[in-house]
Amino acid sequence: MAEKLNAVKGMNDILPPESARWEWLEATVRDLMGRYAYRNVRTPILEHTALFVRGIGEVTDIVEKEMYSFHDRSDKYGDNDHLTLRPENTAGIVRAAIEHNMLYDGGKRLWAIGPMFRREKPQRGRFRQFHQIDVEALGFAGPDIDAELILLASALWKAIGLTDVRLELNSLGQPAERAQHRAQLIAHFEAHADKLDEDGKRRLHSNPLRILDTKNPAMKDVVESAPRLMDFLGAESLAHFEGLKAILDANGVAYTINPRLVRGLDYYNLSVFEFVTDRLGSQGTVCAGGRYDGLFEQLGGKPAPAVGWAIGVERVLDLMKEQGTQIPVRAPDVYAVVPDASAMPVALRTLQQLRDAGVRVQMHAATADGLGSFKSQFKRADNSGATYALIFGADELARGEVTLKALRDGSGAQTSRPLAEVAAWAATLQSPAPNT
Ligand code: ATP
Ligand code: MG
Repeated sequence: MAEKLNAVKGMNDILPPESARWEWLEATVRDLMGRYAYRNVRTPILEHTALFVRGIGEVTDIVEKEMYSFHDRSDKYGDNDHLTLRPENTAGIVRAAIEHNMLYDGGKRLWAIGPMFRREKPQRGRFRQFHQIDVEALGFAGPDIDAELILLASALWKAIGLTDVRLELNSLGQPAERAQHRAQLIAHFEAHADKLDEDGKRRLHSNPLRILDTKNPAMKDVVESAPRLMDFLGAESLAHFEGLKAILDANGVAYTINPRLVRGLDYYNLSVFEFVTDRLGSQGTVCAGGRYDGLFEQLGGKPAPAVGWAIGVERVLDLMKEQGTQIPVRAPDVYAVVPDASAMPVALRTLQQLRDAGVRVQMHAATADGLGSFKSQFKRADNSGATYALIFGADELARGEVTLKALRDGSGAQTSRPLAEVAAWAATLQSPAPNT
């Protein structure tokens, strides 16, 4: 036998029945996006490496060590380039917005879902291929849209029954305000240089703000005693933050202010937020977002304000499991029992008619051993979860009929249905679609 091959470490197969949870979540998200008038975008999974270096920043975990990058072979269509599997979607969406001049007639509300790639140590809630739901509101400057994004995320938690998530908020102010804070932050960390770990020492001058979101518990004290960015904000930045909080308050959205919630790059500004849970161990952030008014310019576009968030799909599904959330399972309405292969033509024709009428039908298919006994077919019908078995026996077919047997109501009732009038009885077999 040939050697068995496995999936790449940290990259998961999503198989039934688990995939039904994904489909359910996706359907819920799609419906919700429509209610908030966000429109779907799909950008390539491969982009020029330069997009992420500029769009995420050189001094970040992602660009420093997590990207899957390669040098593409030159060909007459491509540009013999450094390419990277996207580690996140914001940079690609903003690139697309600039490339297609999407903001020419005003702001755009966009959403996307798909796989992202980061070379991280695989563990619970941290994979090398994972999935994000992304929302980006491009071209809107006020705290109202920041609030809309947070309300949208809250509505999603509600729709999928998540209760154990809390919102943390902060404001990063504007670059000039951060520059003043930065000087004092560096002074603070220099005075306590002995308390900094490797990463901290390296970032002290390149990206000191990022030291604040260290995951190293040994640095807790030195981080907590650091000067707070909030104290450096001017009137306009504070007004934006107050505006956001007022809308959240009016909507009963609870939050705590976390002064250590930061993004280390100049094009991030004003609102930052995360939804976090204590139920997933150290990978507790299920949604991270904020404003990035400087990114359009950074990527060569005309300046435009923007705000967005990204949800980690695997973490959300894990949290739903933790909480014991059930999703509606849809079994087939009908399982066809076909005792003899000679009945297959008429059986399949009937099943097509049922499906045309919207009935969910599972056909009994032959294996290498044939169709199997009547009894074994019934067992399969039962295991399929179908509401009815539809029996294509020789006697009833000779009368122009099929037998319908109820499998779930305990009655086991059997009735005949005319083959000539499938559409007339099809509707009675259809189970109602579950609400999402
Ligand atoms: P972390 O601090 O956990 O590494 P991050 O700051 O790198 O997160 P973002 O880039 O803000 O994460 O991504 C947004 C969300 O995507 C995260 O809050 C998380 O839910 C999810 N996410 C990020 N990286 C991974 C991963 N490797 N595996 C699974 N989900 C991830
Ligand atoms: Mg990370």
